[in-house]
Amino acid sequence: MRWYLLLLSLLIVALAGCRAPSGKPSGATPSRPAEPATAATLEPAPAGTLQVVFFDVGQGDSAVVIFPNGKTMLIDGGETHQGRALVDKLRQLGVQHIDWLVATHPHSDHIGGLIEVLKRMPVGEVWDIGMPYESPVYRDFLLAVREARAPDGKRAVFRKARAGLTIQPSPDARVQVLAPREPLLVGTRSDANNNSVVLRLDASGGRFLFTGDIEREGIRRLADMDVRADVLKVSHHGAANGTDRKFLERVQPRVAVISVGANNRYGHPHRETIALLEKRRVYRTDWHGDIVLRLGADQKLQIATTRVAPTNLPQASGAPRARAGVVIGNRNSRVYHAPDCARLPQPENRVRFRSAAEAERAGYRPHTCVQTE
Ligand SMILES: [Zn+2]
Ligand SMILES: [Zn+2]
Repeated sequence: MRWYLLLLSLLIVALAGCRAPSGKPSGATPSRPAEPATAATLEPAPAGTLQVVFFDVGQGDSAVVIFPNGKTMLIDGGETHQGRALVDKLRQLGVQHIDWLVATHPHSDHIGGLIEVLKRMPVGEVWDIGMPYESPVYRDFLLAVREARAPDGKRAVFRKARAGLTIQPSPDARVQVLAPREPLLVGTRSDANNNSVVLRLDASGGRFLFTGDIEREGIRRLADMDVRADVLKVSHHGAANGTDRKFLERVQPRVAVISVGANNRYGHPHRETIALLEKRRVYRTDWHGDIVLRLGADQKLQIATTRVAPTNLPQASGAPRARAGVVIGNRNSRVYHAPDCARLPQPENRVRFRSAAEAERAGYRPHTCVQTE
């Protein structure tokens, strides 16, 4: 309750006029990027509120939707080592069970933390793309799914998420799967990313679009889908290949959320993405911590965060700060790579830089293979 009052009194980002799902897409957007004034703590929302929380799970993705009637949907869970903290945060929010647990795609920064949730909370259904994928974390995830129990004690239901799957968790909220569709994409830079589950949540007062890690091909496949949303979970941690101008024009988000780890080795979010989002309100889990969005009875979207973003950082470019750590340059192509990139240059062509910033000062440009998660 204290949180809620604080929210009401301090909040300057109440998005008056957020439109109902059937309304026209949001039009002009304020030009200030990240700027929450409120430091929130995680706690249950007042009755009748729809709450969406994007968790700070470092470099990874995780969000929960708590519907007004108490039903819950967890979308991704960050890396495995984030699992315990994720369960604790869910409990702080009053979540005792998960009705729908969604693994957008089998990368560890999305499914790892879900394993702990599956072990420690009743789970009704698990949605997964069901794509063959070899990794120890995905294997552990599938094992945990097999053991998971629903609130009624029966086995958790495993469902392949495909476009068209729609549920109505509460009378005024609907969740629709927009992607992937059959046949799954093959031969892309990352088929796991491009076949991510994409969800649209339509609630009274606002729409949310959850995009997993889709890249160009995945975005192209949404061409005939209604992707308009007030709140966009920016794809692929803000990588340049997860957002383009056309897509943003179709979504028309007022608010963009980037789930990203501080000083991550991929250079996420990329400066191109930040530039594209210039006119939107941008929230980043590395700066704002957990990002809490609420739609109450007044159908106005309220946003608070568990950390107040530093004000002395360049909002229009997350790149210099994000690109810390050693990188490997190619003296021929003048391109630099993350040190664990799958496509490192031949040993004789390698140049080592102490940071991406140093590489860029030397005239090197980032290679897209730094965006592999
Ligand atoms: Zn990812
Ligand atoms: Zn991924």
